[in-house]
Amino acid sequence: MRLILAVSVTVILILATFAYFSITSQSDSLISEVERHANQLSETIRHSTRFDMLSNRRDHIHNIINRIGEEKSIRNIRVLNKEGEIIYSTEEKEIGDMVDKNAESCYACHAKNEPLQKLSIKERTRIFRVDPDSSRVLGIINPIYNEKSCWEAECHAHPEDKIVLGVLDISVSLYEVDHLTQNSTMNVILFAIIATLILATIVRILVKNLIQKPVRNLVEATNYVAVGNFNYRIASKRKDELGRLANSFDNMTKKISEMRMQLFQSDKMASIGKLAAGVAHEINNPLTGVLTYSSFLLNRVKDNPELKADLEVIVRETKRSREIVKGLLDFSRQSTPKRGKVEINSVIENALSIVVNQLKINHIELKKDYDSKIPEISGDSNQIQQVILNLIVNAIDAVGSKGGIISIKTSIIKLSPYGITQIRKALCPKGHDLIDEEHKINGRPSIKLKAKSGNNEGFIHLDPIYGNHNHHYGIQFNRNETVKLFCPECGISLLDETEFGPNCEAPIYKLMVPEQGTLKGCTKYGCNWQKWDFVDESGDHNFVEIIISDTGCGIDKNDMDKIFDPFFSTKGQKGTGLGLSVIWGIVDNHRGKISVDSEVGKGTTFKIHLPEV
Ligand SMILES: [Zn+2]
Ligand SMILES: [Zn+2]
Ligand SMILES: [Zn+2]
Repeated sequence: MRLILAVSVTVILILATFAYFSITSQSDSLISEVERHANQLSETIRHSTRFDMLSNRRDHIHNIINRIGEEKSIRNIRVLNKEGEIIYSTEEKEIGDMVDKNAESCYACHAKNEPLQKLSIKERTRIFRVDPDSSRVLGIINPIYNEKSCWEAECHAHPEDKIVLGVLDISVSLYEVDHLTQNSTMNVILFAIIATLILATIVRILVKNLIQKPVRNLVEATNYVAVGNFNYRIASKRKDELGRLANSFDNMTKKISEMRMQLFQSDKMASIGKLAAGVAHEINNPLTGVLTYSSFLLNRVKDNPELKADLEVIVRETKRSREIVKGLLDFSRQSTPKRGKVEINSVIENALSIVVNQLKINHIELKKDYDSKIPEISGDSNQIQQVILNLIVNAIDAVGSKGGIISIKTSIIKLSPYGITQIRKALCPKGHDLIDEEHKINGRPSIKLKAKSGNNEGFIHLDPIYGNHNHHYGIQFNRNETVKLFCPECGISLLDETEFGPNCEAPIYKLMVPEQGTLKGCTKYGCNWQKWDFVDESGDHNFVEIIISDTGCGIDKNDMDKIFDPFFSTKGQKGTGLGLSVIWGIVDNHRGKISVDSEVGKGTTFKIHLPEV
């Protein structure tokens, strides 16, 4: 709206200026035409009356003046003598009147109190109104000079020293000129109004299509994001600034949703872990009291079978509560995991023995496919059993009472260290630690580097998994500028100017990993080239793969991102949702990975990879 107003005002101003000058020049040329005409007329009168003047035939002069004065445009013709007396006039009642020398035509000549001299046409002309309502009048005076023939004439003989004898004054009506000027002024105003309206309409349409629509789309998208829908995309196909803005908006929401997931999985879990540890610690003491006294009572009521049975329930349930608390403490990592040799297949069997009744009740068929050659892995067998047990219980819940199949498969597979190995230590050439424990990526401490791209400066947090590229960029990149990386502590450059990445011509960065060589990577934005010779040369690593799948209800696509979040639950009132986030934490502690694949109505498959060593 403001733009349209600005455009309209500008157009009106330009048109008004243009119209003013064009009308003024048109009016000027019309007036000078009239002026020329009037001057010619006065010359004609002067010449044609000359002879009559010489012979002093006043009635002849009067006739000539009257005849010429009959022309429509001529308002008045009069002749004044030197003293200002009107000698002849087309208006007879004027004859004999005196003219005020300071007014009208006399002013130009008498202003300097000097005798009348030869004057240019401009100086002899004046434009005036007889009364305010009438049209303008152009007056032109023409001095009648004393000539030789005049002072020699027999009739009246003017003295020789007089230069000017009198003045011929013609006034012409400018009605015609004024009328034309007024008409063209009206035309210009009309044209200006129409032009402004047309322009305003065009601007409005252009603004609506080129700016308002995409801006409205952006606003709409912002509203979606504001209420938490990070999957909304504008998907603009435009290539102009607004299109680019829409695209970077899409990129931003994509990044936000990724980061939100990472937040849920790492930061939130850390805080939940702390909370759980505190609660667990507080509950552990009263539970010990309950267990001690109920066991004590149980010994004393050996003769009373009814009481004995009840007390046995109390003792059993209290012990179970203590196990749960212990599990929470384990997860919160405040209770150090008991590292030892873990035999995966027997851990699974132990977990299954706990749920064997539930499987029967729900008519669930269990399919087992164990690889007997699976080596022992290093870890906490209690924690791993908790993981397996949780996943099986989830699978039973998903299948429900209608019956179905749960399959458990173990095998040993080889995986490239690329995309798996975590960089746990990284140093600058001067030995400063680059690991940032505060800023985590997927729950793991990141590598913090200072970055410069063009005039932009900020920090980059590199994904600590070798071959993974969920880097966090705290800096805007200019695609044409090369990125420079520095140690945040001492500012030393981390670029190796002598070496370039194999895919692009961009320089590479080098990080020292103590006792494990150097890690190299390409600095070009978007290029994922990384090289870590020490790890690559160690060859593929053995992983134990555990696959637990069910033919249950499956997980909704919208829930897939959230299932590892603390407190998230699809089971309604049944669970607290702590299960899967606990599982994620345990697997991560074992340097393993867990992934999920699910289809609503068909079932869910969890895949766990635990490293052999
Ligand atoms: Zn004379
Ligand atoms: Zn340094
Ligand atoms: Zn590259």
